[in-house]
Amino acid sequence: MTHAPEHPIAVPTPSTSQSLQEIESLLLEHYAQYQGNQDGALANYIPELAKVPPDQFGLAVATHAGDVVAVGDADVPFTIQSISKAYNFAMLLDEVGRDETYAAVGVQPSGDPFNAITLDARTNRPFNPMVNAGAIAVAGRLRQILGAGAFDRVLEVFSLAAGRTLDVDERVFESERETGHRNRAIGHLLRAAEVFDVPVDEVLDVYFRQCSIRVTARDLAVMGATLANLGINPCTRQDVFGMDAVRDTLSVMFTCGMYDGAGDWATRVGLPAKSGVGGGIIAVVNRQIGIGVFSPRLDEAGNSVRGKLSCIGLADGLGLHAFDATNPGSSFLRGMAKWD
Ligand code: GLU
Repeated sequence: MTHAPEHPIAVPTPSTSQSLQEIESLLLEHYAQYQGNQDGALANYIPELAKVPPDQFGLAVATHAGDVVAVGDADVPFTIQSISKAYNFAMLLDEVGRDETYAAVGVQPSGDPFNAITLDARTNRPFNPMVNAGAIAVAGRLRQILGAGAFDRVLEVFSLAAGRTLDVDERVFESERETGHRNRAIGHLLRAAEVFDVPVDEVLDVYFRQCSIRVTARDLAVMGATLANLGINPCTRQDVFGMDAVRDTLSVMFTCGMYDGAGDWATRVGLPAKSGVGGGIIAVVNRQIGIGVFSPRLDEAGNSVRGKLSCIGLADGLGLHAFDATNPGSSFLRGMAKWD
């Protein structure tokens, strides 16, 4: 990696057991409240995902001090799917910096479905790294830069962010590889646009594998807390991402992370987040916590129904929305006496 972040302000203060208990009771409350909700449907365009037990439901929060609170099926593995897009984007930013990253992919919301076979006509580049075209562009650049070891490096970085060794669900990977015709079409479109110069199958091998990495809601909470904690995993103290990469990634998650439901999410939850069709959602409260939720039934926008409801509940219960009246805003400005 090329970044050499110094993280001068990442000083954790331990969470009190009282605050952890409050978070746990809130998680238990939302678990009980939404457990019976059977709205939504499993993703079925990847055949293996349609076989997942639909009633699973796990919630977890990891704090910047490295404490983790988890309830329900928080240790049940599922595939990370599109949540991987955020972490690969951060990886590319760290590897090559902003200029080279933004020569390959933009940061504009697209208004198109996540799997649209299209580029931004103004730039001939994908709109943003959270739609498939952008994520495949990022995977392509990583494959080109890192060579045949690209996916191993992706898995290593994701494992560092989660604080444990992750692996790939080979059946989901095979299922995606056999049926991912739209993604293959996107790959060829990107190669024709000279976004990368390596064989499309090698790029898609990275992309399908990154989507098939197995995580739990607890892992997602820690991965989220790694972004919240300026790129340092708060449980292991491992330095995973540079601060510029974290800032840009959270920004794009805020505007583009929740498929066609991004505007509704920004208004209702008010946090940078990313969901995946495996039923996971990751949300980040800058400098404070990562939230990981898992429940595989999805709404029409492709976001976990119970996951979204739980995040709304947590945002309301803890005053997490970026523009909540109780949100104290910038600690720097608060440090100036006249702002108190
Ligand atoms: N592997 C999935 C695909 O490319 C990811 C989709 C998602 O989670 O949005 O179709």
